Amino acid sequence: MSTPSKIPARVDQIIPHGHGTYSLLLLPERRVPRYLPGQFLHLALDPYDPSQHWPESRVFSIASPYGSLPLRILFSVVGRYTRRMEQELRPGATVWLKLPYGEFCIKTDAEAVLVAGGTGISAFTAFLGALPHQPPPHPVTLLYGARTPELLVYRPLLQQWQRATPNFRVLYFAESGDLPNDVLPGRLSCQAAFTAAHNPHSARFYFSGPPAMLANFTRHMHDDFHIDHTRLIIDAWE
Ligand SMILES: Cc1cc2nc3c(=O)[nH]c(=O)nc-3n(C[C@H](O)[C@H](O)[C@H](O)COP(=O)(O)OP(=O)(O)OC[C@H]3O[C@@H](n4cnc5c(N)ncnc54)[C@H](O)[C@@H]3O)c2cc1C
Repeated sequence: MSTPSKIPARVDQIIPHGHGTYSLLLLPERRVPRYLPGQFLHLALDPYDPSQHWPESRVFSIASPYGSLPLRILFSVVGRYTRRMEQELRPGATVWLKLPYGEFCIKTDAEAVLVAGGTGISAFTAFLGALPHQPPPHPVTLLYGARTPELLVYRPLLQQWQRATPNFRVLYFAESGDLPNDVLPGRLSCQAAFTAAHNPHSARFYFSGPPAMLANFTRHMHDDFHIDHTRLIIDAWE
């Protein structure tokens, strides 16, 4: 695994998706160390001076695959720091990145059920974007939920990837709004994740999203659906 590097990056584009959710496209000003799908970066708004400590930062899954530029993250405004990001980031601004980190890597040697809540999808997109070129030997099912259909930001790309990949299926969920035909009403649930698996007692379940969602899923998948902890893998957003 690569040693993390600290690199400045220029903001290329900020795409608003509504409800305080944004795609942020970044052009690194130095070589990006190799990273794997599912890994994350630290983003600092304040300048980094190598003679000082690393400034305050937050972590975000890297939504784009290694080798593709701009580097992409998807973030939601939930607290003080992400509010600063919403207010201060402009095209042309410089931020500092520290990457890569994390071990949230999806294995394809068994069936995989992926559960993404909102911006949690970004932990899966680099992996999913590669599927049309490397079809998985075992079924991969993604359950992707958001508050409204507009916040299912990756739905158009996922529809393309699904058409091009045997063994890959997506179920969409939205809590409110005008639901297109392929979007189911309501929230992501353990029941839906369990039912989506061809064989829930051998599949691995991967979860990415806000802390409350992750805590809820890991507890109920184990206690109520008897899925062993070794097959419940989370991208811990703590
Ligand atoms: C592995 C991982 C991947 C993530 N990926 C994404 C993603 O793709 N998209 C996304 O929107 N969010 C992602 N998050 C969550 C994100 O990093 C922020 O924690 C979240 O957006 C909280 O918002 P905030 O920082 O504005 O909230 P704040 O209220 O500012 O802080 C929230 C938390 O940050 C920590 N914190 C507080 N002060 C400091 C400080 N001075 N220095 C360091 N930490 C502090 C505390 O744990 C606090 O509870 C991810 C988190 C993890 C751990």
